Amino acid sequence: MSDMVGVLALQGDFAKHLESLKRLRVSAKPVRWPEELDRCRGLILPGGESTTFVNLLKKSGLYESIIAFAIDRAVMGTCAGLIALSTAIVNDRMKTLGLIDLEVERNAYGRQVDSFFDTVRIPMFKEKPDFEGVFIRAPRILSFGNDVEELGYHDSQVVMAKNRRVLVCTFHPELTRDTRIHQYFVESMVEHQ
Ligand code: GLN
Repeated sequence: MSDMVGVLALQGDFAKHLESLKRLRVSAKPVRWPEELDRCRGLILPGGESTTFVNLLKKSGLYESIIAFAIDRAVMGTCAGLIALSTAIVNDRMKTLGLIDLEVERNAYGRQVDSFFDTVRIPMFKEKPDFEGVFIRAPRILSFGNDVEELGYHDSQVVMAKNRRVLVCTFHPELTRDTRIHQYFVESMVEHQ
């Protein structure tokens, strides 16, 4: 099987994730229908609008297909993608995919500062732990399960995390030229499973 990475392309900034993967020379393709997952070893859910994602996932049949996909393949989500992948959203009733045990608050940073840039610290990037965090009406992780590993911090807030198959960020690495998070996803989670 090839190491193709799919990017969910129903709505949101999927083109930016395709660009990040292209920069890494990883073969990638947009995914709009369940059959398009067949040749993928990994899948990325982009930023966008999580309620819209969940509605469109249900309409396209991808909702069930992504849950089945994640049994043995890796999935990454940024911002709205993180919300769609989480188990519980405290301020919304949408039925999320529940693939990573996170309790999340949507649009958690308030109006005045609902979009900002700030440094995120990712200790596993030992040579240079600083990463430019682009936060756009970002969610906040309020709590997480025992199988969830903290990977990145903004102040003391966890903003990047993973479990065995699912990697999530509350910010948008795809909106920077820094491809280290995508590289980590492909090398450590897509190619080694
Ligand atoms: N505020 C959006 C939501 O709750 C997420 C925003 C984003 O992906 N940049 O779905």
